[in-house]
Amino acid sequence: MNIPLSSPDVGEREIAYVTAVLRSQQLSLGPWLSRFEERFAEYAGMRYAVAASSGTAALHMCVRAMGIGTGDEVITTPFSFVASTNCILYEGATPVLLDVDRETYNLAPEKVREFLQDNCERKADGRTVNLKTGRTVRAILPVHVFGLPCEMDEIAALAREYGLIVLEDACEAIGAKHRERPVGTFGDAAVFAFYPNKQITSGEGGMVVTNSAAVAHNCRSLRNQGRDEDGRWLSHAQLGFNYRLSDVHSALGLAQLERIDELLAARKAVAANYSRALTANKAIRLPAQLTHAERSWFVYVIEMAHAPGSGARDRVRERLRKAGIATQVYFPAIHRQPYFSRYQTEVPMPLDHTESAADNCLAIPFSGRMTVEQVGAVSEELTEAVAAERRNLPEPSSDPVPA
Ligand SMILES: *Cc1c(COP(=O)(O)O)cnc(C)c1O
Repeated sequence: MNIPLSSPDVGEREIAYVTAVLRSQQLSLGPWLSRFEERFAEYAGMRYAVAASSGTAALHMCVRAMGIGTGDEVITTPFSFVASTNCILYEGATPVLLDVDRETYNLAPEKVREFLQDNCERKADGRTVNLKTGRTVRAILPVHVFGLPCEMDEIAALAREYGLIVLEDACEAIGAKHRERPVGTFGDAAVFAFYPNKQITSGEGGMVVTNSAAVAHNCRSLRNQGRDEDGRWLSHAQLGFNYRLSDVHSALGLAQLERIDELLAARKAVAANYSRALTANKAIRLPAQLTHAERSWFVYVIEMAHAPGSGARDRVRERLRKAGIATQVYFPAIHRQPYFSRYQTEVPMPLDHTESAADNCLAIPFSGRMTVEQVGAVSEELTEAVAAERRNLPEPSSDPVPA
């Protein structure tokens, strides 16, 4: 058996579009970039879309474009891919990592409220100041982790109350909805990403969406070396980056976007197959379902019901690897990353739900192209591996350790 963790779905349309770019000889800043952006803005339901060379680049230029920097704090989640925290660190701002919800793994609104109420004060000039650090709390950066929408009503209400910017990291959640409303439309801006494991891919790539002309304009300048949009090629109005997305990548992204309904439906069907195959197994927890939100299936992540720190998850992982089944640990907690302690951060402990999720979650192979047989084979092997862990568990001690 050899079942990869993920796999893109590239078809004839993608090949035709990319070939057309190559034949046109215009490989960057051409018509495919604007076509991809226009089509994306329409799909996202936002006025502006600005493409970038990666989701990380898109997040970074968004933070810069919003003027978030040294002396500012940004509230976000430690249970995410590192890019959502790194974009804050790049600009010298301070990430404030708060715990996630036990069921959804998304930033818990009650933790955000608690942090703001206990530590912060809204000043007469409208700023919210963290009284313990003296820094200004500027923004909330929620991540719709694994494609499940955050509780955006509550997060938006807190942002209004404290005068905070909302930047949605929707990199894992294209097509997801919260109370019928698409993710990416709740904040001041949102970012999507197109690495090959995402729901749609451009090879590498990302997109900022916003209704703010100023943010969109500034992002266009920042991604293109700080040039003014109408300026001369070698005139740089500000310190920028090369975060451009080539027309080759844009054509691939556009072809995928035109197929998005089909691609999302295929992923949903594979997820349903997994859920049917695994639902009877009480030793694993399946991805959370919310009645008021629709997940866009990015990955299929199960959580082992074993004691955190027992190592069960890692032994299951090893057993699957030997059977030719790829898995990944989504996600190690960001505050435990080796580089993290070298930066100025605010991490009010404990982060119990983040840490137990980080110790017990496992992403199993998932893509819209997986066959019923592959899903069956993975489910069977996983069920056996988890059962073996049950048998290996030590008997519960008869005299419990005093608390
Ligand atoms: C994929 C992803 C990104 C962006 O990643 P890139 O590889 O830079 O495109 C950002 N945040 C989250 C949560 C992601 O999953």
